[in-house]
Amino acid sequence: MNTHLKKSIIILFIGLFIFCSSNSKEQLNYLNSIKKIDMHFHVISDAPYLREIMDELNMKFFTICTRGTNIDIMNFQINTAKEICKKYPRYYAWATTFDLTRRNDPDWADNVKRHLKDSFDYGALAVKVWKEIGMEIKNLDGKYIHLDDPIFEPIFNYIEQEGKTLIAHMGEPIQAWMPLPIGPDGKPTGYWANNPQWHFWDKPDKPSYNDIMAARDHVLADHPNLRFIGCHLGSLEFDVDEIAKRLDKYPNFAVGIDGRTRYFMWQARGKVREFIIKYQDRIMYGTDRSGGLITREGKETTPRDIESSIKSIMDRHEQFFQYYATDDEMPLGNYTVKGLALPEEVLNKIFYGNAVRWVPGVNNDF
Ligand SMILES: [Zn+2]
Repeated sequence: MNTHLKKSIIILFIGLFIFCSSNSKEQLNYLNSIKKIDMHFHVISDAPYLREIMDELNMKFFTICTRGTNIDIMNFQINTAKEICKKYPRYYAWATTFDLTRRNDPDWADNVKRHLKDSFDYGALAVKVWKEIGMEIKNLDGKYIHLDDPIFEPIFNYIEQEGKTLIAHMGEPIQAWMPLPIGPDGKPTGYWANNPQWHFWDKPDKPSYNDIMAARDHVLADHPNLRFIGCHLGSLEFDVDEIAKRLDKYPNFAVGIDGRTRYFMWQARGKVREFIIKYQDRIMYGTDRSGGLITREGKETTPRDIESSIKSIMDRHEQFFQYYATDDEMPLGNYTVKGLALPEEVLNKIFYGNAVRWVPGVNNDF
């Protein structure tokens, strides 16, 4: 082969390589450049390193309060959120929650409404309800209280009337109703091995996965004017078709990804890509990470804790940005997955625009 021809072939290959990878790289550059909101974060306390991360990623954190069954923990989170959102509105916005312990008191609903009003006055934009409803709390007859229980009616009506959003983490991934995975040492492993109270396999007295999903769906049907975000892909993370059914049926329903990107990765790529493009106005980005200068247990964080928190937050964002924006082959445990290479306008909605539409005000000062 003459040198001229060789040169031309090499140039052709380089050109092809640049052409094939440029689109993907451009989308990643685009995603890096735009404003983004992590719609599911737990700020334990403000910390300069968290704000540095947000500056670097061009991001704001939506911090979510939980634990209506533990008033000390709940109040601690709410007071923290009030303080940091007032001090750093560029970086933080928040969702409040409410007390469940006094639910049998006759004036409970009125007190909850007063409490929510106070939160809204302090800038709370949404109200979070957690899996303790449906999986833990019981009524005086000893029956599990589900999300469609009449006790919540005045509260949901109030949230709707105030133009705020309800954010619900109901149930668990469906694997919580299956046997525990076994680790290399032959012992049960994973989240439910350490949190057996949320593992319902072979516990016939506990509500089923379908009971919990159905109760959530009743609220969606009964409150068509209540903006409703289902956390963790609505706990339907195992199958985009199950999410799509609800999105078709309930126009007031949207879902947060909230640390469930891996479930997208495990499903057929083409199907997931089609799903996200079809429902591009109804899906929002979130990681369910936490951070701060104290631990969840209230102890001061060590420099090592901070280092690992930074790594855990940054690694995830970088991996997810690559997954949603590019068509790169990416390692995932023992598997290789391929990025979704979503169009720019879809990336903009999922990482920013949908948050603003479903939780109005979340982009204030940002
Ligand atoms: Zn969370």
